[in-house]
Parts: sequence; C-alpha cells; structure tokens
Amino acid sequence: MTDTHSDVLILGGGSGGYACAIRAAQLRLSVTLIEADKIGGTCLHRGCIPTKALLHVAETADAARHGGSIGVRTTFDGIDMDGVRTYRDSTVERLYKGLSGLIAHHKITTVTGYGTYVGDRAVDVDGRRYTGDALVLATGSNARLVPGIGVGERILTSDQALQLDFVPRTAIVLGGGVIGVEFASMWASLGADVTVVEALPRLIAAEDPWCSKQLERAFRKRGITTRTGVKVVSAKETDSAVTVELDSGDIIEAEVLLIAVGRGPNTAASGFAEHGIAMDGPWVATDDRLRTSIERVYAVGDIVTGPQLAHRGFQHGIFVAEDIAGRAPVPVDDQLIPKVTYSHPEVASVGLTEADAREKFGEVTTLTYDLAGNGKSQILATAGGVKVIRAGSSDSTGPLVGVQMVGDRVGELIGEAQIAVAWEALPSDIAPFVHAHPTQNEAFGEAMMALAGVPLHAHT
Ligand SMILES: Cc1cc2nc3c(=O)[nH]c(=O)nc-3n(C[C@H](O)[C@H](O)[C@H](O)COP(=O)(O)OP(=O)(O)OC[C@H]3O[C@@H](n4cnc5c(N)ncnc54)[C@H](O)[C@@H]3O)c2cc1C
Repeated sequence: MTDTHSDVLILGGGSGGYACAIRAAQLRLSVTLIEADKIGGTCLHRGCIPTKALLHVAETADAARHGGSIGVRTTFDGIDMDGVRTYRDSTVERLYKGLSGLIAHHKITTVTGYGTYVGDRAVDVDGRRYTGDALVLATGSNARLVPGIGVGERILTSDQALQLDFVPRTAIVLGGGVIGVEFASMWASLGADVTVVEALPRLIAAEDPWCSKQLERAFRKRGITTRTGVKVVSAKETDSAVTVELDSGDIIEAEVLLIAVGRGPNTAASGFAEHGIAMDGPWVATDDRLRTSIERVYAVGDIVTGPQLAHRGFQHGIFVAEDIAGRAPVPVDDQLIPKVTYSHPEVASVGLTEADAREKFGEVTTLTYDLAGNGKSQILATAGGVKVIRAGSSDSTGPLVGVQMVGDRVGELIGEAQIAVAWEALPSDIAPFVHAHPTQNEAFGEAMMALAGVPLHAHT
C-alpha cells in the first residue's frame, strides 16, 4: 500500500461516493475519496438539504399567514432574506461539519481536486496518479439546460435559484417535475406569483396520475398557475424581466425563469468513455450489481440510470462497499425506493403506479382513503389521500404492490408503506397493527383495513 494506492478508490464525494467510503472503511478497507468541491455533493450543498430548509421557511410563512384561521393572531410581514440565508447555510454547515467528522473518524483519505479516469482502476488528480484494488465512480449529475436558453441574471437553474437574495414577485418554472414543483411551491408560499410550464400532460409525470391530479388541484387552490402540454420555444432576458415564448403562441413574462428540466450525469469530462468504460447514452452502463464493463470498476448514484435520489445513492454506495469486501449484499431495487416531493402538499410513493401494476399483474385492486376522514390531517387542515394498490382482484389475496400519498407531511409516512411493499405484505397482515391516534399514519392503517375487508372510518 502506498499513499496513492488503496483498497478502494472513489471518484466523487456526494451521497453515493461518501456512503461507499464510510461503509468500506467500516469493513476495514483502506479508502481514498477524491472530490473536486465539497464532500456531501449535490444533496448537501445544492440539493436536498438547502431546498428543504427553504421549504420549511415557506411552511413557516404559510403558518404565519393563516394563524388567524385557528385563532392565533399572526401576520405575515414579509421575508428577511439575510435571516433565511443564515438559517439555510447554518443548517448545511452543521451537517457538513458532522459529515467531515465522520469521514475523519473512519480514517478515509480525502483528496481535493478534479479527477480524470485514465483506465484500469486509476485516476489522475493534478498530475498525481491514484490507484485502487477497486474503483468506484460517483461523479453525480448537473442541471440540464434547454437548447438555446442559457443561464443568465434572470434565467436560473436550481443552483442559482437557491442562492437568490430576493423573493421574486413573479416566477416562471420551466418543468413540472420534482425540483420544479418544489420551487414553485416554495416561491408561492413566500409571496411570488408562479406559473409552471410543463411539456407533458401533467405535473410530476413519474408519479401515478392520481397524485398529479391531487397536486394540480391543490396548486390551483393556492393560486399557482399550471400550464401542461405546453413547450417553451424561447426565453429572453431584459433588464427587469424574462420574456418566455410558448409553443401555444403565448408570451409570458416574469422576474425570473427557473429551468428545471431534469439532470444529466457528470460523465462527459472525466475520461470514462475515452478509457473504455461502456456507456448507456450519457450514463455509465452497469449490471444489477453496479459493475461497469471494466473489472472491479463500479458506478453508483446519479450516473447510473434510474431515479436520481440521494438515498438511492447511499444504498448504491453501501451495496458496492459490501460487494468489494466479499459480502453478498442484495442489489438495490429501484422499484422499492421511496420518492417524496416536498411541496405543499407533499407527494410520496413507493412501488408500482396503478398502470404499471395492471401491466405486471393483469388484475389489481385499488383503494383510496381520503384524508378528510383522518383526524390529524383535519387538525392540520390538509387535503389529500392515501392510494393503495394490491395485486389481484378484490376477492383474491394478493400482496400490496404500490402506495401513493398526497397531503402535508405525508413524506414522513412512506417508511411503513415501503416496508409493507418490500415485504409483499397482504393487507390482512397490516390491518391488525394498531396505528396511534390521532396520527396521519392512521390513514395508511385505515386503507389497509378497508382493503382487508374490515374498514372502520370508511364508506366502503
Ligand atoms: C434542487 C435539488 C433538490 C434535490 N432534492 C432531493 C431530495 O429532497 N431528496 C433526494 O433524495 N434527492 C434530492 N436531490 C437529488 C440528490 O441531490 C442526488 O440524487 C444525489 O446528490 C446524487 O448523489 P451522487 O453521489 O450520485 O452525486 P452528487 O451528489 O452530485 O455528487 C457527485 C460529487 O462528485 C464530484 N465530482 C464530479 N466529478 C468529479 C471529478 N471528475 N473529480 C472529482 N470530483 C468530482 C462533485 O463535485 C460532487 O460533489 C435533489 C437534487 C437537486 C438538484
């Protein structure tokens, strides 16, 4: 072992890379982690954490605005962006400090610099070569742009939008996927007039259409304009606005335009394809054990096609570390990864949509439990529901294969649904479990009771 050779060499210190580093170190492997920027990657510095901090600011603004409706004398007097920045940055900083401590505690060697793959299991950083018995590629993703529309003063990706030092009076969000919807929700709560433009026929198109319908209805009620089935043709900045031309012929204008049309993998500039790594379009091609075409070279996280989520990256990293250490980990199943959109209201899901379940099983049974019947949701004044999907007809005993939820705070409920779907639980397995009252969690329990033929607070 030299200072430039380790058991495991990892390129990229985001969710996938650092999780792999920690698990490999726990398994007593020597680890070198190469990171061009800051350990923690997109999720900690430009993604999950800062956006959810801003969404919490948004929730607090809504609570202040609506205090009067429950007899609390509050008013919403505006946003202090310095205060918001301090809160957001200190949240990120605390977590970054904790993560850095964890990396040091596990005696992981970190190298700061941009790494270029040079073949085999070797990476060059600033003229120095690092090698590993195994190499893990974890270079993550970046915001995609629309051809002909560049980033500017008022045309932003999520990276710039997170750093805005003002709340726009008006905003156009191009893209109604998770990131677009979260920003639309956040800006609307902070007082902006928001229009979401989405080329597909519905918002959050990766989710069950039932979720899209619920979310679109809630956005309508909140005064967020949604224009689906419409494409942006061009966007031009002036000193005071962005003018956006739609393929419907309409011209709309706002103070800022957020481009949220998905993220592409960081694979073009790191030497992968040039040095023989087989690609799947822009993604690194892997088998289900995350092995690339080169022996003992793995890929994890957003560079592997599939849902781009931090917790998928963590699980990929853990899986690969255990595989390298000779354990026999179970491959990560994208279908069982819970997904949450942290808008107001939230959307959470796991397993199959109804359409996918029908395709796979032929006959399925679905049940939707409306949050109108859930005490805690009524206390919180949130609308929405829990939709559950079971394989087989209503008189059969098929397992639970999909769960979708819409409503404030439902992201916190998806854990139980995930376990039930992953364990292929029958509704009758879950129905006898007691769910604490009053919790929103009861809505899932009630849905299971109804599906098992023993409904309580349901008109079935
Ligand atoms: C606005 C936004 C909100 C999000 N919210 C959520 C959320 O709520 N929940 C969720 O699960 N996911 C969320 N995500 C997605 C999540 O951030 C990503 O799925 C996750 O960060 C992917 O992890 P990764 O390790 O694959 O890549 P990344 O986190 O992108 O890390 C890759 C790292 O590699 C480094 N790197 C790249 N190339 C090189 C090189 N050649 N040499 C050295 N270093 C290199 C980069 O600097 C980076 O630090 C969000 C993303 C965005 C943009």
